[in-house]
Amino acid sequence: MTHAAPPPNSCTPQRFPVVVVGAGPAGLTVGNILRAASVDCLVMETETREFVEQRPRAGVIEEWAVRGLEKRGLARNLLDRAELHTACEFRFEGERFRFPFGELTGSHHFVYPQPLLVTDLLREYADVRGGQVRFGVRDVRLHDIDSDRPSVSYTCPETGEQQVVHCDFVAGCDGARGVTRASLPPERIRVARHDYGTGWLALLAEAPPSADCVLFGCHANGFAGQMPRSPEVTRYYLQCPPGDDPENWPHDRVWAELQERLGAMGVPPLTEGRLIEKRVLDMHDYVVEPMVHGRLHLAGDAAHLVAPIAAKGMNLALHDAFLLGDALVAHLNDGDDSGLDGYAQACLRRVWDYQEFSQWLAEVFHGPASGDPFRAGTSIARLRRLFSSPLTAAAFAEKYLGTAARH
Ligand code: FAD
Repeated sequence: MTHAAPPPNSCTPQRFPVVVVGAGPAGLTVGNILRAASVDCLVMETETREFVEQRPRAGVIEEWAVRGLEKRGLARNLLDRAELHTACEFRFEGERFRFPFGELTGSHHFVYPQPLLVTDLLREYADVRGGQVRFGVRDVRLHDIDSDRPSVSYTCPETGEQQVVHCDFVAGCDGARGVTRASLPPERIRVARHDYGTGWLALLAEAPPSADCVLFGCHANGFAGQMPRSPEVTRYYLQCPPGDDPENWPHDRVWAELQERLGAMGVPPLTEGRLIEKRVLDMHDYVVEPMVHGRLHLAGDAAHLVAPIAAKGMNLALHDAFLLGDALVAHLNDGDDSGLDGYAQACLRRVWDYQEFSQWLAEVFHGPASGDPFRAGTSIARLRRLFSSPLTAAAFAEKYLGTAARH
């Protein structure tokens, strides 16, 4: 499996058993699993290393995903530094309702910002396990994925020349806007898509969290959420019209809406701070089936997007990556095809389960502002049942934490 390694970002064309397209959580986890088993691979990434190590996004990681990283030697910093969350709080009709999922299940969420996880994974892959990465690549294209000799071409950032890398397998981990999904023949795939018909203004504030847990405000003006990220930075969301311009949301308007939608009897006002990220997400989900064509295996957001309603996307990306990394190692090192054969099915069971939960939760969040009194009434009924029925609470906690024994 070994070969003479060129310097990082070299433009020498080569052959690798696996080319991983995309250096996000999915691609870097696959790369680390391969390197731990001495399988050579090349990770290709359009952005710079600095950019991917700083891109803010997720923060909530489920316990099974942390244990999966730990088992593969990828959770040292996370376990040292992550905060543990054992409760979340819903605020509606002017009151607060704490949901102690830790007490109900014995399980918790880890809060560890995605840029820290990506930085850890990249250091381990490139600096410790000797994996190769090419940053800043352009015009990435896949060739002959339905043959047993696929290749990936790209334009070299240093010379502007086109380079070709031959391989046995391509891992398509290039997220929602990548190119690998588009390489699947349209007549062989089905894309199931769901639009929520609403936007979320995603904000990062230079302010400490105003509560020790995630807050969900279900309000007639629209949903609002608070997700602690660190003692200095907090993520907030505000439901807004789809396609809204972030410039429509100046500092004062953002904080006035957050104060109102997350306000409740007896709680102090939110701690305000400078807004360091402000962008509108059009809330939608999709699932591509199958996630495999020939020698191309999709993983993470490349294969399925779940709107950040229930904080599930990165968890699904890690789940795919564990399965794909292990399956590629089993095939390449031991000739065992069972993991690759069952890959898509094993991923999709959890994907569809999480999509269903996100859709359910979206209705709770968006119903009160739908303008439809019937939807508003049933949303509040769902919320009240969470705090009056132990069986409903237990079922919710299992979905929120992803702790179901089987999917
Ligand atoms: P990505 O992280 O998108 O990585 C793909 C990589 O591929 C990128 O580095 C990209 O630059 C690169 N790339 C793109 N095109 C190419 C190309 N042509 N060639 C080479 N490289 C390419 N999930 C959670 O689980 N919990 C949360 O709390 C949470 N919060 C979120 C909050 C927000 C505001 C958003 C937007 C998302 C959130 N998510 C959350 C979702 C989570 O961020 C994603 O699901 C996760 O990043 C998916 O990882 P990935 O590796 O599949 O894709």
